[in-house]
Amino acid sequence: MSEAKTVVKPKIFGTLLTEVIRKDRCSGCGACVSVCPPGIITMKPVAGKDEQPTLSGKCILCEYCYYQCPWTEPQPSDMDVFGRPRSETEEIGVVLASYSAKATKDEILKVASDGGVVTSLIAYMLQNGLADAAVVSGLSEKEIWKPEPKVVFSVEELLKTAGTKYTVSPTLVGLSSAVDEYAKNKVVVVGTPCQIRAVRKMQFSRHGAYKYGSKVTLAIGLFCMESFYYDRLIKEYLSQKIDLNKISKFSIRKGKFIVEAGEAKVVDVALDEVKAYVRGSCHFCTDFTAELADISVGSVGSPDGWSTVLIRSVKAKDIFDEAVNAGFIECKPLDQVKPGLTSVLKLSRFKKERAKKTG
Ligand SMILES: Cc1cc2nc3c(=O)[nH]c(=O)nc-3n(C[C@H](O)[C@H](O)[C@H](O)COP(=O)(O)OP(=O)(O)OC[C@H]3O[C@@H](n4cnc5c(N)ncnc54)[C@H](O)[C@@H]3O)c2cc1C
Ligand code: SF4
Ligand code: SF4
Ligand code: SF4
Repeated sequence: MSEAKTVVKPKIFGTLLTEVIRKDRCSGCGACVSVCPPGIITMKPVAGKDEQPTLSGKCILCEYCYYQCPWTEPQPSDMDVFGRPRSETEEIGVVLASYSAKATKDEILKVASDGGVVTSLIAYMLQNGLADAAVVSGLSEKEIWKPEPKVVFSVEELLKTAGTKYTVSPTLVGLSSAVDEYAKNKVVVVGTPCQIRAVRKMQFSRHGAYKYGSKVTLAIGLFCMESFYYDRLIKEYLSQKIDLNKISKFSIRKGKFIVEAGEAKVVDVALDEVKAYVRGSCHFCTDFTAELADISVGSVGSPDGWSTVLIRSVKAKDIFDEAVNAGFIECKPLDQVKPGLTSVLKLSRFKKERAKKTG
């Protein structure tokens, strides 16, 4: 009797559509768009969902789109990224050192979201040949306050991209641009935890887009509780409240969503008021601190104007220490500030519990 043959179906864009996009798990990271060899995946507007990846062309069944997506299996592990599993006490992932830190340069503090650590670190790397480009999130020239990936090569360009935008930028499209269009080899990527996961898949997955992953020299993760749909938050909600041209800064602090115009707080509302505009994917997300980044940075845990910094890889520790020694960043151990790690752990646990309830 002949054995029954198992047909293994390739995991292609259709699989991504069924398992991720139609289930409202797509976080808009841009990885699928960036790796598709024939370039047939594009972001197209979908009512109420901003843009979503769409197929238009002949698929070569390569499976790249599926395997770089942060929402598909197999997931990269601590072992892949850091060479060891996290210990029982490392609840928020591998952490070698934790600080409360701040930029020393006024031109960075003026434009930064919190302590300006992300911008300072990249500035140090670009100026000292440790990076030849950085993929960050700047703003679209066509649509007001809409983030889009930017590849920057100088501190001058970098400064224009500082500050938090609470809607999604398809960061991974910036990575492929840095590699394909600009032929860069030492690229820093700044991203939300889901975007960092896509970077790690490109580096470590058995079907990883190494062409791009291998060019990432440092992955800087941002703490992230949620992000919002641009159309709903900015165009529908905020444009009714304020002239969008006047906005200078967004922040989320102590349960409040705050919008500033110069010195004035023009919107200061409970986060609950904007909850309806949170992206679908964020309800499923378990990662608050970018557990697979080389270095993770957020505001929670540190006093206003300072950043909480979790250093995870040896490479990040070396670069951070150098930037401190070179006078780009000042820092103190996180356990010397209030509220410190306790509040980071609290939010991380909250996010994991929230995702369990979503299913
Ligand atoms: C969607 C989102 C949600 C966040 N939620 C939290 C939170 O709940 N708690 C918390 O403590 N911190 C949160 N953060 C992180 C926080 O807002 C700051 O980005 C972080 O503290 C770094 O501050 P900084 O002053 O060092 O950064 P800066 O020096 O100002 O640099 C910020 C960097 O982030 C990049 N960036 C901005 N917006 C985006 C984006 N949408 N996607 C990818 N990159 C972007 C910029 O290009 C820049 O490189 C969130 C960030 C984002 C993007
Ligand atoms: S060609 Fe490859 S990356 Fe592009 S849609 Fe098909 S399977 Fe996905
Ligand atoms: S999460 Fe990223 S890789 Fe996955 S479908 Fe959305 S854009 Fe593509
Ligand atoms: S909450 Fe998760 S899915 Fe949503 S933007 Fe942040 S890291 Fe991505």
